[in-house]
Amino acid sequence: MKAVILAGGMGTRLKEYTKDIPKPLITINERPILEYQIENLKNYGIKDILIIVGYLGFKIKEYFGDGKNFGVNIEYFEENQPLGTAGALYYLKNTFTEDFILIYGDIIFDIDVYKFIDFHKANGGIGTLIVHPNNHPYDSDILIVDENQLVKGIAKKNEKRNFFYNNCVNAGIFIFKKDLIDYVLKDKKQDLEKDVVLNLIGKEEIYAYRTTEYIKDMGTPERYELVKKHMESGFIKSRNLSSKQKAIFLDRDGTINKYVGLVYNPDQLIIEDDVIEALKLLNSSEYISIVITNQPIIARNLCTINQLEEIHRKMETILGEQGCYLDDIFYCPHHPDSGFPDENKIFKIHCDCRKPAIGLIEKAVGKYNIDLSKSFFIGDTTVDIQTGKNANLKTILLATGEGGKDNKYMVKPDFYAENLSKAINSILENNFEEVMV
Ligand SMILES: [Zn+2]
Repeated sequence: MKAVILAGGMGTRLKEYTKDIPKPLITINERPILEYQIENLKNYGIKDILIIVGYLGFKIKEYFGDGKNFGVNIEYFEENQPLGTAGALYYLKNTFTEDFILIYGDIIFDIDVYKFIDFHKANGGIGTLIVHPNNHPYDSDILIVDENQLVKGIAKKNEKRNFFYNNCVNAGIFIFKKDLIDYVLKDKKQDLEKDVVLNLIGKEEIYAYRTTEYIKDMGTPERYELVKKHMESGFIKSRNLSSKQKAIFLDRDGTINKYVGLVYNPDQLIIEDDVIEALKLLNSSEYISIVITNQPIIARNLCTINQLEEIHRKMETILGEQGCYLDDIFYCPHHPDSGFPDENKIFKIHCDCRKPAIGLIEKAVGKYNIDLSKSFFIGDTTVDIQTGKNANLKTILLATGEGGKDNKYMVKPDFYAENLSKAINSILENNFEEVMV
């Protein structure tokens, strides 16, 4: 597989660092971010790289040459006129005989490329793009993605949003079939997302690959300084999904949102007071955050899958507006006891995903390569604690929500905490309250 890197941008928002260099040559530890990109590709056997250069492109050529010194083969395409992020692709028609990776040259990342390629091949659309939550979705383009990871639309950052949305941001890394190029016009300035990808979304040809790996644009000086810190501490590399990940699994009702019984309408969802603080702390730590929740409201026909997802969209919108996020949400829609009026029969089954079963945790482990022995389950019920025990996780019972008074299982947590932010603090500082005997 070949890779194309779009390195023609001007990086006007980072002017103080890009006075006389193009943005992909901004350095971290004296190496340009473009060099980190090339190294990541090379680690996965992708050695044929085409760089599209524009503004000050000769400096990129000077530094990388034909790529031999970096263990890869580099070719360049020079734009004679600015063609936007997509226009130059027209001229690459004959360069590609198969699928190719396309990357924005101004982002820093470290990803398991094989895992991404596997996902793309399994879905079969013309394109797959990487998505992730970030801590500023309100000023990011958001992708509208259905339960099969098919992209249904884009909510642009400059358009007013009067609806709830998932925190699902385009990260700037794509795989395309070579057919993509049939959708690019000759000699016309075109934006990859607005003019080409959006058209393919309309044809149901674009899928979204969600990952917790480190992928950041460095759009502001603050974000650039943070990326430098993360590079030095090894954090960027540690998030590559080829390495085992640490996770904090979270219950939803009574842990993230206030316990009010079953929640089957977005109006019933109210975030617990300390949760924003807790998740900000969690998001900046080495742990990934994953919600595991039983939602028998589907089986009981109190609402539809889409209405449940609307509740989650509300949750993600509120969290995103406050600068925090959940890496993923897994829910069980089932319930084992049939015989209720109006029930939704296909969900009335004995499943392996309803807590305290660990089907959802196993799903998350497969998706994110999680090391359960270094991970936690936090919740407000004995069901949560039993789930954590069943998965060999360390467990923390909260005093919020039901505070363990559901009494469904005779089980003791490893630790107690007053609320979610105290629990997260305890984990990060490795300082726990003793379990009361
Ligand atoms: Zn289930």
